[in-house]
Amino acid sequence: MEYIPVAHPLFLGNEIKYLNDCIETSWVSSGKYVERFEKQFAKFCQVTNASSASSGTTALHLLLLALEIKKGDEVIVPDLTYVSTANVVRYVGATPIFADVDENIWTLDPNKLESKISKRTKAIIVVHLYGHPADMDIINDIAKKHKLLVIEDACQAHGAEYKSKRVGSLSKAGCFSFSGAKTITTGEGGMIVSKDKSLIEKTRVINSNYVSRKRNFFHSDIGYNFRFTNIQAALGLAQLERIDKMLITKIRNAKLYSSFLGDEELIQLPQQKPWAKNVFWLYSIVLKKAGLRDKLRNYLAERNIETRPFFVPMHKLPMYKQLGNFHNSNFLSENGISLPSGLTLTSENIEHVSSTVKKFLKSYGKKSQKV
Ligand SMILES: *Cc1c(COP(=O)(O)O)cnc(C)c1O
Repeated sequence: MEYIPVAHPLFLGNEIKYLNDCIETSWVSSGKYVERFEKQFAKFCQVTNASSASSGTTALHLLLLALEIKKGDEVIVPDLTYVSTANVVRYVGATPIFADVDENIWTLDPNKLESKISKRTKAIIVVHLYGHPADMDIINDIAKKHKLLVIEDACQAHGAEYKSKRVGSLSKAGCFSFSGAKTITTGEGGMIVSKDKSLIEKTRVINSNYVSRKRNFFHSDIGYNFRFTNIQAALGLAQLERIDKMLITKIRNAKLYSSFLGDEELIQLPQQKPWAKNVFWLYSIVLKKAGLRDKLRNYLAERNIETRPFFVPMHKLPMYKQLGNFHNSNFLSENGISLPSGLTLTSENIEHVSSTVKKFLKSYGKKSQKV
C-alpha cells in the first residue's frame, strides 16, 4: 500500500535553474537571491521589509533581541504551540508565561490573556496555529491598553489572512519558517517581516555579529550569525513564485476532507472564522471522545497513513512546568490529530484517508455498543 505522509514539499518551478545559477556563479553564501527572496516575501506578506534567517527559530530569536526583550521580562505565549515559540523567550533570558487557547480555532484565547499580564509583561507572541490566524483586533486592543508589544509566530500560516490582511502584517513583526514540512521550504530557513524598517535593519546588524559598516572587524556588541544562504534563498524564491498555487491546493484539499468527514459526530472539523482565511497548513481534526486519538493514529499507521498528534502543551514540558487553567490546550493536545496534508496528495488519497478514518470510527462504534 502507498505510504501517505503528513507533509510533502513540491518542487515544480525554477528551483533547479536558480540553484544551478548559484553554483555556476559561485555565489553560494551571500548573493542576489537573498535580497530578491526577502523583497518578494515582504511583498507577499503586505509589508515593506523582511530579513532572512537560518530557521524560524532563529528568526524569532533575532526579533526578540532586536526588540530588546531581556532578563526580568515576561512574554505571553499560547500554551499550545511548537516549542520554539517558548524557547526563544528563554534564549533572551526572559520568562514565557503560558495562556490557554480558543477551543474552536486553537489560537491564543483573548479572554484568557488579561489575567496573565503582570508588571513585568513586555510582549505577547500570537501563533497562527495550523494555518488559522489568531483573533488579532481584540489581542492588539488588550496589548495597547497595557502598552505591550505584539508579535506573530506565523511559521505555520504563510498566506493566511485576518480581515483580508496577511499574517505577518498584523502586529509589530512576524516570523516565518521554511523547514521541510512547512508550506514552502528552503530545507531550513526563516524570515522576519515588518513595516518597521529600522527594526528589520537592527535584526540584520545583530545577525552579522554587530559588525561596523565603517571600520573593519569592529563589533559594537555581541551578535550572532544566523544567516540564510544564497542557495537557500534560490530555492525559496522558486518556491515563492508558486505559493499561490500551493495555497489553493491546501484549501481545496481541506474542503475535500471536510466534505467527507463532516457527518462524523465524533469529529470536530477545523474551522474558519468569518474574518479569517485559513490556509490549512496541516488539515487537523479533534476527536470529541477521550482515548480515541491514539487508537486512530495506530489504525492509520498500520495502513501506511502517517499522522501527527497535536503538540504537548508548553506548561507540561519539564523545563516550563507552570500551573494554571489550560483546559482547552490540554483537551486539544490529547485529542487533536493532523491528517496527511502534503502538496503531492491526490483527491484519491484524501478519499482513502477519510474512508479509513470513517471505517475506524464505525468499528469503534460497534465495539462500544457491545460493552
Ligand atoms: C516550525 C515552527 C517554528 C520553528 O521553525 P524552524 O524553522 O523549525 O526553526 C516555530 N514556531 C512554530 C509555530 C512552528 O510551527
